[in-house]
Amino acid sequence: MFKRILIANRGEIAVRIIRACRELGIETVAVYSTADASALHVQLATKAVCIGPAKAAQSYLNQTAILTAAVESGCEAIHPGYGFLSENYEFADLCAQCGLKFIGPSGDVIRKMGNKTAARELMIKAGVPVVPGSDGVIESAEEALKVAERIGYPVLLKASAGGGGRGMRRVFSPEELPATFASAQAEAVACFGNGEMYLEKLVLSPRHIEFQIMADQQGHVVHLGERDCSIQRKNQKLMEESPSKALSPELRQAMGRDAVKAAQSCGYEGAGTIEFVLDPDGNYYFIEMNTRIQVEHPVTEMVTGQDLVKEQIRVAAGLPLSFTQEDVKLNGHAIEVRINAEDPARNFAPMPGKTEFVHFPGGCGVRVDSALYNGYELSPFYDSMVAKLIVHAPTRLAAIRRMRRVLEEFIVEGYPTGAELAHLILYHPDYLKGDYNTSFIENNLDEVLSWMEKGAPLADEEER
Ligand code: ADP
Ligand code: ADP
Ligand code: MG
Repeated sequence: MFKRILIANRGEIAVRIIRACRELGIETVAVYSTADASALHVQLATKAVCIGPAKAAQSYLNQTAILTAAVESGCEAIHPGYGFLSENYEFADLCAQCGLKFIGPSGDVIRKMGNKTAARELMIKAGVPVVPGSDGVIESAEEALKVAERIGYPVLLKASAGGGGRGMRRVFSPEELPATFASAQAEAVACFGNGEMYLEKLVLSPRHIEFQIMADQQGHVVHLGERDCSIQRKNQKLMEESPSKALSPELRQAMGRDAVKAAQSCGYEGAGTIEFVLDPDGNYYFIEMNTRIQVEHPVTEMVTGQDLVKEQIRVAAGLPLSFTQEDVKLNGHAIEVRINAEDPARNFAPMPGKTEFVHFPGGCGVRVDSALYNGYELSPFYDSMVAKLIVHAPTRLAAIRRMRRVLEEFIVEGYPTGAELAHLILYHPDYLKGDYNTSFIENNLDEVLSWMEKGAPLADEEER
């Protein structure tokens, strides 16, 4: 096992990784930008190294500074968390060249699966269903028009290097395609330094269903069930749950089998997520693989009882998976709410500020993953997510009720968050029925926001 690991990230995920390392008896080296000198991950790590100024490009994305810190502090491995360098194949290659174990798949695997058009082609070969779309990259708006004509409108323009819902645009008619192509491509260049675009059929009223997989260096691949992440804003997830109300045991088995097949087809190692969209008729299509730990991994940990970050580290150290497919049982129900410093009433605009006061919920079946503390100043340079509230209960309804209670207990002062919106969503009749798709927030936002003044409707019979 490793003796010392560098964590190339910040915020709650850096804290999450430090917790796993402590329990494994591994020392941690935190890296931080000048804006993060008093951040929690810096205080909790065994040692901390400043790697540059606030701008991520000069600190958390500064590969040379991070590799130097790892080598000079005697680390054997680097955990990249999510975001930042976690899906950067050059960084994974450089780690290997420096004799450091990148905790994740090899650079070659990221090259294949981290690029969405390359991953699509690989999945077609492996026999995993993909959304009808372009054969590889689209070079121009003219070519996009031809492909869209062939597959039929509406379509979704997507960036090959996309992530976090960026570089993605819906197109409903040929007239709007050229301008939309240009703006999506410009966003892709600005966000990812890569303007490669492709096109998919827009699946209508879909659910976002993803499967967690874990693979070891011995070739074992296991899936740990699904997460339903259909409650989204701006194509970004806000609330996740496991298991999904939309999957029958048969559908779960079929999708899980395809997720495992997807990971096997590329020689995968470590934790990964296979994302699908599921249409109202029960057809599912691969959309992308995230070759890293996912923000919402705790819901899977709650229902399976496995520690995915520890398992990532064990597997990276060359140990075989500590469980088999037969060992994985989904127990009860888990829900996560992401708390972002943002204003839902103003199109979810990020609202950083100083944390004047924070109180975390607790009690039975509650988990809080956060790097917040009283007095902590949010930096406008980074992600607006400040906490993840997670609950676990025997049934879905009990989990919903527990999450309402958790959101009532949670206090944060100094900036607005989406906590109240999430609380109200937990009273929405369609959410209660589990009958929702990725347009839920778009379709119900005004109604739910109006409840902020007059209160949520009375809970239905099923609840009493
Ligand atoms: P997940 O399913 O894990 O939420 P996302 O693709 O939404 O996957 O990205 C996870 C995290 O990675 C985000 O919360 C964000 O911190 C970071 N991230 C991903 N892509 C970007 C991007 N283009 N710009 C900024 N942050 C990003
Ligand atoms: P990102 O890398 O930004 O997470 P994804 O490819 O995972 O990009 O797509 C983000 C979200 O956009 C999905 O969760 C889903 O809600 C929606 N989406 C993606 N592809 C399609 C599609 N072909 N049809 C309908 N919705 C889609
Ligand atoms: Mg995605």
